Amino acid sequence: MAETKRDYYEVLGVNKGADEAEIKKAYRALAKKYHPDANPGDKEAEKKFKEASEAYAVLSDPDKRRQYDQFGHAAFDGGSGGFGSGFDFTGADFSDIFGDIFGDLFGAGRTRSGGSGNGPMKGANIRTSVRITFEESVTGVDKEIELTLKDPCNNCKGTGARPGTSPETCSKCGGKGQVVYTQQSLFGMVRNVSSCPDCHGSGKVVKDKCPECHGSGYISSRKKIQVTIPAGIDNGQSVRIREKGEPGVNGGPRGDLLVEVVIQRHPIFQRNDMDVYSTAPISFAVAALGGEIFIDTVDGKVIYEVKAGTQTDTRVRLKGKGMPSLRNKQVRGDHYVTLVVQVPDRLSNEAKELLREFDKASGDTLNAVEQQSDGKDKKKKGFWNK
Ligand SMILES: [Zn+2]
Ligand SMILES: [Zn+2]
Repeated sequence: MAETKRDYYEVLGVNKGADEAEIKKAYRALAKKYHPDANPGDKEAEKKFKEASEAYAVLSDPDKRRQYDQFGHAAFDGGSGGFGSGFDFTGADFSDIFGDIFGDLFGAGRTRSGGSGNGPMKGANIRTSVRITFEESVTGVDKEIELTLKDPCNNCKGTGARPGTSPETCSKCGGKGQVVYTQQSLFGMVRNVSSCPDCHGSGKVVKDKCPECHGSGYISSRKKIQVTIPAGIDNGQSVRIREKGEPGVNGGPRGDLLVEVVIQRHPIFQRNDMDVYSTAPISFAVAALGGEIFIDTVDGKVIYEVKAGTQTDTRVRLKGKGMPSLRNKQVRGDHYVTLVVQVPDRLSNEAKELLREFDKASGDTLNAVEQQSDGKDKKKKGFWNK
């Protein structure tokens, strides 16, 4: 192998004696964290997800685990070349785990569990994205998106065969929809199961094609779909719309539509998890004396009482003024405001005079070099010559 692979126990963060439940629990946590649906476009997360899935596929299967314990990664190197290039996952059950994950993320159902053969199969998921404003992510919004969807062809009822004829059983796979390749490896024959290339898993081939859909069994058309985006959604999260994906095979349900939400940058607010961050300028006088100021929040302007003697870059918390929780709109994050004291750069003569008066009156000029009244002597005021 070109790449050094990490130990499967290390990948899942369990010890060698871990039982089935521990392994499942560890994988579940990793899969939830790194699942591509939760991290769209994140290559590193995808890699981690695949690594964890591979480790789980092996360690959750008693036979494979025994082989791995005995031979290490070499047990699976022969021929198949590791995960992503035909790694055999047939023994592993991911479906209940992924069902849980999606349930957690968006209250949706379970995903396809590696279905094969010519039984009913769920269609593939479709991914698209929608752009919303920061304000819309606070309140939630309904958006209409338009995309091309396939529907079963009415003319041939989705069979792809000219009306009056029927599809024939695929000769390559004998109607099973999958083909089995066996390869010789160091530890004996390795079986790889894959979808039949001739019938693409349906088990049937069309000889006399339907003229409407040219044998595909589907007609594509533009569809408008309403997407309800919940309040509190974060940039890059997806909304799942069930059964608006690719049509199912052999009577299976349609796949899902996953709409990734892209949130426009806001000129004032930044978001981190459920909290909102912003800065607000305050005048030198308000900072010194205290006073009320307006602060922009996602709920609009609020009045905030600045304490006397506030230093620049003081961060204050507006409790419950952050983003709403995806699960419960009533639960809100906080809004953190950094107060930035503005030093005036244009002063009237009167203001200048008052400031000089202030300087004298306050009697504390920090490290300033002070001009003596005779104009000759310069004395440094500060810690050392007090
Ligand atoms: Zn047709
Ligand atoms: Zn076939």
